[in-house]
Amino acid sequence: MHVRAPLKREGIMAGTRLIINFFFKDKTPLEVNAEFPRLLPAIKAAKAKASKINEGLPNEEMTVTVTYHICRHDDGDACDGKVEI
Ligand SMILES: [Zn+2]
Repeated sequence: MHVRAPLKREGIMAGTRLIINFFFKDKTPLEVNAEFPRLLPAIKAAKAKASKINEGLPNEEMTVTVTYHICRHDDGDACDGKVEI
């Protein structure tokens, strides 16, 4: 991955923001776990080291969040509730 400027400069907070959004058609969460057994532990380990952008400030961003849900988007139905990992 390319880095166009130093991450650490005075008054600047930069870092790597990883955004993942996967949809596994016709699979339950258990089936996804069975197919990718290293995915959940890796996500949990990464989440444990992640931090919020502007933590404690009015413009704090929730950048330590991972959820899954049964998605019924393509069926035109409401999705099931999101579960935090
Ligand atoms: Zn959905």
